[in-house]
Amino acid sequence: MSSILIQRLCIIGVGLIGGSLARALREAGVVGDVIGAGRNEQHLQQAVELGVIDRYELQLSQAVEQADMVVIAVPMLAMQTVFEQIKDHIPDECIITDVGSAKAQAVSAAEKVFGQIPENFVPGHPIAGTEKSGVAASFAELFKDRRIILTPTEQNSKAAISKVRQMWQACGAEVQEMNIQHHDEVLAATSHLPHMLAYALVDTLARMDDSQEIFSYAAGGFRDFTRIASSDPNMWHDICLANSEALLKVMHQFKDDLQLLINAIEKGDSEFLKQTFTRAKQARDTYTDKT
Ligand code: NAP
Repeated sequence: MSSILIQRLCIIGVGLIGGSLARALREAGVVGDVIGAGRNEQHLQQAVELGVIDRYELQLSQAVEQADMVVIAVPMLAMQTVFEQIKDHIPDECIITDVGSAKAQAVSAAEKVFGQIPENFVPGHPIAGTEKSGVAASFAELFKDRRIILTPTEQNSKAAISKVRQMWQACGAEVQEMNIQHHDEVLAATSHLPHMLAYALVDTLARMDDSQEIFSYAAGGFRDFTRIASSDPNMWHDICLANSEALLKVMHQFKDDLQLLINAIEKGDSEFLKQTFTRAKQARDTYTDKT
């Protein structure tokens, strides 16, 4: 039988991630009241109707009152404003965590507002998602068997880290810890770069004169490769600016490698092409065998 882990949970930003977390915790029976908060009353009302949250507040200062856990699930560049609005209202014992895709930026936003990294703020990032957004797209199983990366700071107490860890484990996730810089570099390569490539590819094709014909002939490979270009543009605007340093590094490396491929095709360098494709196929086959 499950026992209550969080008496009063406040989710700021009840979209895909915030909504899925609320659903998962409710389904696991480990949460008492779930208060949603955000800027759009219609969307929050929808979250109540879908049974994702019990009630909502438009004033973040009121939403966090008496909460024992606050989860910030808004786009990256909205985080600082959220911290500003909750700063003077967070109960002393309350733990704050976030789900943002770039951790240095989330921590720096908190530090700017609080004057130091708050000891009760445990940064986190679920490695799970879809190309959909909004509460209607949320589902309880999103985090099941998926990884959650926590990037605790030196200021965090063991108890705060443990509580956030337990929250995610209750959703069926595997929780790992990583250093902030390493997280941002790894995610730039594995998630942020592929999103940039998908957006750039689809945009290049869409701007061609015969784009309608091109898309009409696009087959499964195109669909697989470009699924993530349907992701929310506002969210990705924020992520690529929030993790620009690590992202630019890997984008420049990719640009150089793409140039090598262009050169090889121009020169008809079969050996280079076969070596590159074979290396990539082996790497992907190994990855898919493991997952
Ligand atoms: P989402 O479905 O669009 O939800 C975002 C939520 O934040 C919505 O409830 C939205 O409210 C609210 N919001 C947007 N701007 C706001 C603002 N300025 N002030 C207050 N609330 C605001 O997005 P999501 O996919 O859940 O992403 C949320 C966070 O999770 C982001 O930081 C993202 O980097 C991270 N993340 C996403 C994924 C993914 O695959 N989607 C995976 C891991 C982490 P409205 O109803 O008013 O729009």
